[in-house]
Formats: sequence, C-alpha cells, structure tokens
Amino acid sequence: MDKLKIALQKSGRLHEDSVKLLKECGIDISNGLNKLKIEAENFPLEVFFFRDDDIPQYVEEGIADVGIVGENVLVEKQALVDVIEPLGFGKCRLSIAVPRAAAYDSLNWLNGKRIATSYKNLLLQFLKNNNIEAEIHEISGSVEIAPSIGLADAICDLVSTGSTLFSNGLKEAETVFKSEAVLIAHKQLSDEKQHLLNKLLFRIKAVKKSKHNKYILLNAPNEKLNAICHILPGIKSPTILPLAEPGWSSVHSVVHEDHFWEIIEQLKAEGAQGILVIPIEKMIV
Ligand code: ATP
Ligand code: ZN
Repeated sequence: MDKLKIALQKSGRLHEDSVKLLKECGIDISNGLNKLKIEAENFPLEVFFFRDDDIPQYVEEGIADVGIVGENVLVEKQALVDVIEPLGFGKCRLSIAVPRAAAYDSLNWLNGKRIATSYKNLLLQFLKNNNIEAEIHEISGSVEIAPSIGLADAICDLVSTGSTLFSNGLKEAETVFKSEAVLIAHKQLSDEKQHLLNKLLFRIKAVKKSKHNKYILLNAPNEKLNAICHILPGIKSPTILPLAEPGWSSVHSVVHEDHFWEIIEQLKAEGAQGILVIPIEKMIV
C-alpha cells in the first residue's frame, strides 16, 4: 500500500509543534527524530525532515505529498501547492523595523531607504502595494544587525514578541504579513494518497477543535436545571444525571473558550455548584 509522505522542519521553531500535532493525531514518530526519514508505525505515513525553506518546493515537485510550513515561507517561495488547513501554531508577523531613534512617522519615511531582509518577494509586493520606492538588500540571516553595521536603514524580518528588535536598538514600524503554520499538499495527489490525506485531516481537525473547547461538569438544584441548560448548549444538548442527594443533578456539557468566563459567571448566578472544567483531547462532531 502507498504511504503518504509528509515533510516537516528538521529543527527550528516549527519542529516540535509539528511532531506534537502528529502525536496528538495518534501518529507517534518520537523514536526516529534524529533521522532524516522515518516511517510511522500505526499510520501509512513516511516523515521527511527538511529545512523549512525547501518544503514548499519539495511538495510542489511531489518529493513529499504534504508538508507543514509557515505561510511566510510558502508565499515567499511562490510555490504552486494547495493550502489545506491552518494549524494554529508558529504564529508570527513579518514586520518592517527601523532604528529606535529614527523619526518614523509614515510609510513615506521608507522612500529612498535601504531595507535588509530575507523575504524579498513579500517585501517587494508590500512596497509596490503602498507605492514606496526603496532599495531591498537580500541577506539570509542576522538581518537585525544590518542597521547597526551600516548595511541598511531598516529591516524587514519575522517578529513574535519584539524583544530581539528591542535588544538591537530597533522599533517595529509596519506589519507586512501575518503568518502561522499551514498544512500544504501537492496539487495532483493520487486517489489513494488523497484518501490518506483526508484521514489525516479528519484527525487534525478533531485535535484543533478540542483545543478550543472544554468539558464542564457542575451540580445544580433540579428547579434550576432549565435555566442552566439554557446557558449550556453542548454539542447536541447537555447531559443530566441525578445525584445521590435528592433534588440535585449533575450537568455535563462542552463550552467554547470564547464564551468561557461569561458562561461560568452566568452558571454561578443561577446557583450552579462544584463546577469542574476539564480539557478535551479529541473532539469529533
Ligand atoms: P531552517 O533551519 O529550517 O531553515 P529557520 O532558521 O529558517 O530554520 P526558524 O527560525 O526555525 O527558521 O523558523 C521557522 C518558522 O517559524 C518561520 O518561518 C515562521 O513561520 C515561524 N516563526 C514563528 N515565530 C517566529 C519568530 N519569532 N521568529 C522567526 N520565525 C518564527
Ligand atoms: Zn529556513
């Protein structure tokens, strides 16, 4: 039987979360992490480890069928692949930063300036969209020191907290692109591989969904059950079980993190007691 070939980052910021996601999907590859290629034992999957920069091209060419890579790298490399699913990790932004002392007031400040970056295509597009004429210096690493050594007036680089910028005397001026890790796929997968990808995607979605929801249990006096069930919609509807103590019930349901604290407050106001909140491992609806 054919196996689905997946390309992951060998080491770096996406490596751990990518391996963890597979593990949460029931695919354990932890005994081969220092190899370049390993086969999962309990899913028809072959895992390749590459530099993230090479992943879009390898998936475009079909060397790997699918891959996990940052959108920033994907768009920069302009690879012809399908984006299947955002994965919710590896969040960062590509930003333009200028020396802290610069009197930066608007994008116009960048006109005629030199900007150092490893993301030439993304920066070029951004400057073009904003009618800015600047000179791009493409360098492959240590972009943040370019202004202090006189190589550039500004930089365009990835930022998550901004602390690297700060320690290099820079301040963030503009966001060029927002990114997270995505699952990508080769454009023409065989039916068999497409079927395997669908199976993997089904698991990924169940894992993702579970992270945004919590299982909640509480005790309530029976006369309050109507009001409480109204607050807790659940997947279909809440589960109600009688407690040993007459006149009381236990209510079980699932709540989305977006409304979590609001719901807890309302439940308390309606007389709910002994509220327990439990993480959900997988959620299939
Ligand atoms: P490789 O050796 O694979 O080429 P790299 O040094 O190019 O690795 P990393 O620094 O490991 O790349 O970053 C990989 C990806 O992680 C980035 O392309 C980006 O999508 C994401 N990322 C998330 N947060 C950050 C951040 N603060 N700085 C840089 N990248 C980040
Ligand atoms: Zn890289």
